Amino acid sequence: MALSVVDLYKNLPQTNCKDCGYAACLAFASMVVSEKLPLRNCPHLDDAIIAKFQQELDQQHNSGKWVKKDMALDALVWAKQRAASMEITSLPKRIGGELKQVNGETILELPYFADVIIIKKDAVSKLDGSELNRWEQVFIYNHLAQGGSVPPSGKWKGFEEIPNTISKIATLRKYAETPLTEKFKGHADSLAAAAKCFGGVDVSEQYPSSDRAFYFHPLPRIPVLLLFWDECPDDGFDANVKLLFDATITAHLDVESIVFLSERLRQLLCGDDA
Ligand code: SF4
Repeated sequence: MALSVVDLYKNLPQTNCKDCGYAACLAFASMVVSEKLPLRNCPHLDDAIIAKFQQELDQQHNSGKWVKKDMALDALVWAKQRAASMEITSLPKRIGGELKQVNGETILELPYFADVIIIKKDAVSKLDGSELNRWEQVFIYNHLAQGGSVPPSGKWKGFEEIPNTISKIATLRKYAETPLTEKFKGHADSLAAAAKCFGGVDVSEQYPSSDRAFYFHPLPRIPVLLLFWDECPDDGFDANVKLLFDATITAHLDVESIVFLSERLRQLLCGDDA
């Protein structure tokens, strides 16, 4: 029978002494069961108890039971599988970029924000060879798999107007729009400076209903428009950031990937790169 957090907790000293680095024995038990923390990290367990339970824990960790899933890795494996049948030579017509020959291998150089990424048959990386983070890889692989040749329409939509996004609206708000709002309220010029660093074009004059507007081109077929309203306490207005996507975005990205792309934009602008 598998060892649950409560089962393990019952066999801990239950003194909440914090010597393991956790505030309570229950928190430690949770980390051991779900995050594979070694039982030995509690210095108050005798060897017999450790020997008895660690073997059982190792077995259930290996079987995946109650282990916290590595969501990013799962998503990346899935996205890579989706893109496995791509033909590099078909990509420029579908998603843009330019084919190059490097050491006898055909690669695609694809503009990415203000940078360039390299697409190979089984890898994506930055131009300098360094790795993209996992979430970036997820939406880029999904774009490789899904990206149609349809160009941007010039019609903007809020995330909530895109079909099948209802379960993700709060996520995008929480991890992209809200932190951007918090970071830049009262600091519109800092937003403008950050946007410029990542290829954002100031199009504020075209969107006079907002205080500032920036047009980004994360990927050639995927523009993003960021609208910013600064706080105005005298009039009772709070600051707000709204991300808009081209109406064609679902031809290029699945809904999850739109959220990851939005989070990436937030990371870049807020300087909390991951
Ligand atoms: S060191 Fe052991 S007894 Fe102390 S809080 Fe952690 S698990 Fe509980």
